[in-house]
This record gives sequence, structure tokens and C-alpha cells, in this order.
Amino acid sequence: MSDYNWCHGPECHTTETQSRVRGSGDNKVLRTIKIKWGRYNYSGDEQPNIWDYFCNNRCLHDFLKLHATAIANLAPRRETLENPIKVVKNKYENYRYEWNGEGGSERVPYMATRTIIKSVDNS
Ligand SMILES: [Zn+2]
Repeated sequence: MSDYNWCHGPECHTTETQSRVRGSGDNKVLRTIKIKWGRYNYSGDEQPNIWDYFCNNRCLHDFLKLHATAIANLAPRRETLENPIKVVKNKYENYRYEWNGEGGSERVPYMATRTIIKSVDNS
């Protein structure tokens, strides 16, 4: 296996940057970016990283847009997924500030509601 990839962005070779210019004299071209394998692999776990295939966000999203249907069909989602939770409503005292009519404001307490989503043990 080689130690680099060519960027998979479909328009990578049309982006006008100095780093893509190759050739000499009147035979210059814009070339797809060459990506060193594992350039952002800081964990050392040898797992491929998305940035081993794309030089930047634009190239990644150009690829995703062009191949969205094919990518979704790699792992089709034919039914919804659900994750059991408990929703807990929690009342607590909070404050707001109201004008007191004398050029200042006054701290006024009120009861607020906080909604907390708790995961449920599935086992
Ligand atoms: Zn690219």
C-alpha cells in the first residue's frame, strides 16, 4: 500500500492555489492535492481518518454532495432508530429583572422549569 492518497474531492484539481500548480513553462497544470497517509493520526491507532482522503472541508463536501445517494446506500436506514429515555421536569427558582419605574431595575424571583433528558439502562 502506498503511503499517500490523492484527494478525492471531485473539484480539487480546479481550485486555484499555489500548492496545486505543477509543471514548467507553458505546460503548467493544477493538480489534485497529494495527502500523506495518517497526517492527522495523533492517536497512533492506524485507523483511517477522513482527512486521509480529503485535503479540506470543501473537497469532502463536494464529494458527499456528488455521491450522497451512493454513500447512503452503503448502510441504508430503512427504519427509525429509538433510544429509551426518561424526561424529568425540574422546577427551580430563577430571577428576572424588571424596571422599577425609578430608573433602575428590580430582581424578581419566579419558578422556572428545567427539562432533563436521562438515558435509560437497556439491559
Ligand atoms: Zn482536495
